[in-house]
Amino acid sequence: LGAPALLSVNNIEVIYDHVILVLKGVSLEIPQGGIVALLGANGAGKTTTLKAISNLLRAERGDVTKGSITLAGERVQHLTPNDLVRKGVIQVMEGRHCFEHLTVEENLLTGAYTRSEGAAAIQQDLEMVYEYFPRLKVRRNSQAGYTSGGEQQMTAIGRALMSRPKVVLLDEPSMGLAPQLVEQIFEIVKTINEQQGVSILLAEQNTNVALRYAKYGYILESGRVVMDGPADALRQNEDVKEFYLGLS
Ligand code: ATP
Repeated sequence: LGAPALLSVNNIEVIYDHVILVLKGVSLEIPQGGIVALLGANGAGKTTTLKAISNLLRAERGDVTKGSITLAGERVQHLTPNDLVRKGVIQVMEGRHCFEHLTVEENLLTGAYTRSEGAAAIQQDLEMVYEYFPRLKVRRNSQAGYTSGGEQQMTAIGRALMSRPKVVLLDEPSMGLAPQLVEQIFEIVKTINEQQGVSILLAEQNTNVALRYAKYGYILESGRVVMDGPADALRQNEDVKEFYLGLS
């Protein structure tokens, strides 16, 4: 991969409800400043992998029973989701998950909840988010529940940025959005990656678009990584073409 791994997932197993083995030894690496795609069909285990990293499995009776997860060499499995956010690991959940009754701006501000700097620094970051997503500035005073799907996805990503992350785990950002809007959002994510150095793990069923923005990809099938490699190589691989690229 070139750059040293910032986040490293080593051979993890995840079990739901003590019995359902969903991840059967998944390993992956996110280099500092990289965009990595996690691909696979519905149910392959992408969301579970992300939740294992951000420690959000407990609420769903899921548990990492084997393997390790490290951030810059430090084991982070035991940390709470909040502590992980403080360390710079944040997940943008599938389906956007805005606070519907809060305004767009209030949603963005909730993203800064783990930070202890003063209001000035947070205001500055709010302006940064508005620079990346001018549409959110226009909609800042609208109730999030009444904004479009694309605007809610932008709000969810902007909210994550407000925590000053090192790694953003993005779960299916393309879901339910028109192709043109998907492209627009991915372009902004790429710009954020380049300008802020934020590393990104991108879980996507839309293999086509994900492999155009990511440098490296992993393909999950039934809880196992069945293939991984540079994005260009995956796009040219016959199996990937047949089973994944035709779908999206
Ligand atoms: P999706 O596109 O639906 O998000 P995915 O690749 O992210 O798919 P996961 O959501 O990680 O897949 O699910 C992987 C497997 O784990 C599926 O078979 C799913 O039914 C199962 N699973 C997910 N959550 C739970 C849960 N809370 N309890 C039991 N099984 C679960």
